[in-house]
Amino acid sequence: MKITCISCQSRFRVDSCLVKATGSTARCSNCQQIFTVFPPDATNRRRHKRIKTKNLISHATVDEHGQVISQGIGETVDISKGGISLETPHPIELGLVVLTTVDLDNNFLEIKGNLVYCRKTATGMYHSGIRFVDTNEQMVNFAVKLIKEYNHRKNDSHDSPAQHPTLVCHVPPLDQ
Ligand SMILES: [Zn+2]
Repeated sequence: MKITCISCQSRFRVDSCLVKATGSTARCSNCQQIFTVFPPDATNRRRHKRIKTKNLISHATVDEHGQVISQGIGETVDISKGGISLETPHPIELGLVVLTTVDLDNNFLEIKGNLVYCRKTATGMYHSGIRFVDTNEQMVNFAVKLIKEYNHRKNDSHDSPAQHPTLVCHVPPLDQ
């Protein structure tokens, strides 16, 4: 992939494998400007793939009158634009499932879905597949926010800023 320095507009060729989906730091070898680069198609790829995450989610099954039949807390196994897999200590009741969580900015997120399957795993936990039934915009928003929150938390806990590998461009600018 090619990146452009935000300051002097020099262009560099960078191996996109070195660029993290959450952004990597680059320093321009021409003017020393430091800036963040993102892989070119990160957003597109996320939209279609199932992403493995671990987000805490509250789930509530409601009946046709909107009454809550059962509720609990689970952890996401993976998430995509159209649905989510949840791991819970107890099976999730059949019906309309309302999922709620908070995003990175402590905003309340809610989405509705239908339980597609619920099976017991070897560890004694239950895995449930829930297909979202909200509007496309809400589904994308929910999935993206959850993935963002997870990536943020993962990066925070596993490497402090000092340990972050810094991507530095050693290659000479293309246009010179
Ligand atoms: Zn520069």
